[in-house]
Amino acid sequence: MNRFLLIGIDGAEPALVERWMDAGRLPHLARLRDTGAYFRLASTTPPATFPAWTTCVTGVGPGKHGVFDFTEMRQGEYALRFVNATHRRVPALWNILSDAKKRVGVLGVPATYPPEAVNGFMVSGFDSPVCTSVDRSFVYPPELYGEVAGWRFADFQESRIGPGWHDRALPKLLAKIADKETVAKRLLAREPWDFFMVVFGESDTVAHHFWMFHDPASPRHRPGHEDAIRLVYERLDAAIGALADAAGSEVTVGVVSDHGFGGAGTGVVHLNNWLAEQGHLRFAPGGGGLLGGETDALAVAGSAVPTLPRPRGPRGEPVAVRGHRLDPYAGVVGGIELLPVGAGQPARTRA
Ligand SMILES: [Zn+2]
Repeated sequence: MNRFLLIGIDGAEPALVERWMDAGRLPHLARLRDTGAYFRLASTTPPATFPAWTTCVTGVGPGKHGVFDFTEMRQGEYALRFVNATHRRVPALWNILSDAKKRVGVLGVPATYPPEAVNGFMVSGFDSPVCTSVDRSFVYPPELYGEVAGWRFADFQESRIGPGWHDRALPKLLAKIADKETVAKRLLAREPWDFFMVVFGESDTVAHHFWMFHDPASPRHRPGHEDAIRLVYERLDAAIGALADAAGSEVTVGVVSDHGFGGAGTGVVHLNNWLAEQGHLRFAPGGGGLLGGETDALAVAGSAVPTLPRPRGPRGEPVAVRGHRLDPYAGVVGGIELLPVGAGQPARTRA
């Protein structure tokens, strides 16, 4: 059986990949498509990084593997805790292959901290404790640390974006891809492996911060950096070509992503506030406590934003609830209508 190299590019938007493959800008991906197969897949629900990668490596949805987001609510309090690999309830591909005596190499797959004692080696993903580079606790076996010390996580502060930040961030993203490519190539060549998986997160990071430059239709559009996303995709394409070469012949190469990407509008939906205004959600008197228990709708957010404890603004005033269409950029449409909940049907909202 062929060995298998699986390369992940986080948040790769298929519309962009297809456009730039067809324009000749992503020649290695285009070659894989033209000599193999290419198709779009649905992401998970929610279409977020941790559940989607965990589904990729387990073959089951979030309801079975137990990983729904980067964070989860602590039972009984309005506090969040981070999710990591210990929340995964089912074996991953590398566990099954290790049990079958196959050698595996796993680099940078999200939701893989702490690293597992696989038959091979593993460098955890960016869920590792906050850091700018790997330390020994991210690596199995720890003796491999010297080989992977160049593997770096974000070394720019994403939460403090100010003047000049984007100018500095783009070259750092490109350099990180190069560093990861170097580490992966070295391990591909030196370590025995049957299954090798590596995930690059730079495609996700660049889209988060540069989509507003990329898309002139965005209400957040700003001039400058219009090529940043394409430059990162092109650099990733080069890395994919280099890794496929380094893996050698008799290797099946797969490229996969966890979700796509798109622009953001300028409206905000405070879903819990709206549910409360409609009488579907009540909060405990005094605030800061548990939900009142009188809920007939359950809001499930697809992001790590904590829910608001009370439907009030900072001065105690009722908070306006606004809805907005996600696609296209249609702007605020003045509310959301909650559709009737049928027997056995989940609650649905309509913009
Ligand atoms: Zn992602």
